[in-house]
Amino acid sequence: MNQSTQFLVVGQGIGGTMVSYFLHQAGLDFVMIDPALPSNASRVAGGIINPVTGKKLARTWRIDDLHPFALQTYQALGTLLNKDLVLETHVNRYFSNPEDVVKFGEQAETQDWFNNYILPLQVNEPAINNTLGGFTISPALKIYGSVLMDSWRDYLKSTGQFIEEIFEHSQLQFVNDGIQYKDVKAQQVIFCEGWGVRHNPWFKDLPFNAAKGEALVVKIEGLIPNEVFLKGVFLVPLGDDLYYVGSTNEWVFDNDLPSEHKRAELERKLSKALNLPYEVVAHKAAVRPAVKDRRPLIGQHPEHKHLWLFNGLGTKGYSLSPFFAHQLVEALQGKRALDDEVSITHRRP
Ligand SMILES: Cc1cc2nc3c(=O)[nH]c(=O)nc-3n(C[C@H](O)[C@H](O)[C@H](O)COP(=O)(O)OP(=O)(O)OC[C@H]3O[C@@H](n4cnc5c(N)ncnc54)[C@H](O)[C@@H]3O)c2cc1C
Repeated sequence: MNQSTQFLVVGQGIGGTMVSYFLHQAGLDFVMIDPALPSNASRVAGGIINPVTGKKLARTWRIDDLHPFALQTYQALGTLLNKDLVLETHVNRYFSNPEDVVKFGEQAETQDWFNNYILPLQVNEPAINNTLGGFTISPALKIYGSVLMDSWRDYLKSTGQFIEEIFEHSQLQFVNDGIQYKDVKAQQVIFCEGWGVRHNPWFKDLPFNAAKGEALVVKIEGLIPNEVFLKGVFLVPLGDDLYYVGSTNEWVFDNDLPSEHKRAELERKLSKALNLPYEVVAHKAAVRPAVKDRRPLIGQHPEHKHLWLFNGLGTKGYSLSPFFAHQLVEALQGKRALDDEVSITHRRP
């Protein structure tokens, strides 16, 4: 059946979900195509939005814009879909070694933003080995991404806007005022393929620096509920005594499957952090669409004006995608330009 639409959105991770949500909010017509595989980076992610990250205790880029916008967007989507999608929380972070304590002191002394996000340790969980102390990062969010993506997909299926298959780039034809893809005619295509971008002939040569990540889901009984803990690894509550334990990083890899060596690394860190028994119930892996300069890659193809990209969400898709998907949809309507820092037009070599 021939279908005509304004936008064809390719890929339904958190990126494509947000782009399509803001198209929907703007009253624009779109169709989404995704194979609905059981795994993608957004489903393997911890779904944490954390204002201060890493060994260096760095403030997350643009967090003061991203956090409130993300909270408002996930709450609005939750209302639309009748689901609880957000936990407003904080991260109880315990020092792993003496170097962490030194770094904490340096940042406390030199960074003017420090006291906006760092509190004395709010939850001293006795089951976490805590000889060196710690601190609490606040505010943080936990997003229930799989619930969101499943519900949004069901919603789009119910409105006839979801095609469950892989987009074959070789089948795209340029026609006068847009593109033809099989029996769909669209004015614009927005590619939100995550690491699937490596198969995209128009955008694959941008400076991606993909990073494979792995995580476990474990059952632990007896932890203080609804708290996020970080000691070497994140422990993120999923309900019913289940915890997400993650994650790893690897820049050289042969496939996107769970590996024995990364499972061993996660279990080693978990055993070091935790005084309680645990049972592994799942082991997941995916590739983060990371970028060399750690900024999203968004914008219009320089030659093929009907092709757009929303990618490069790296390690922070849950915080970046609401704000920048909204910005992209405003740019598509000619209401504004994309920020230079994310625009592929400004960042192409
Ligand atoms: C272990 C791990 C932990 C993480 N933890 C966090 C975290 O706590 N917080 C955070 O913000 N981020 C986290 N991330 C990063 C986050 O997962 C990514 O930034 C985000 O998922 C990227 O979203 P995306 O939509 O661009 O890609 P994806 O989620 O990979 O989605 C891309 C979609 O496009 C589809 N697709 C690809 N090619 C095609 C095609 N040809 N046709 C149709 N569909 C196609 C795929 O099937 C997929 O559904 C983590 C990542 C990993 C791996």
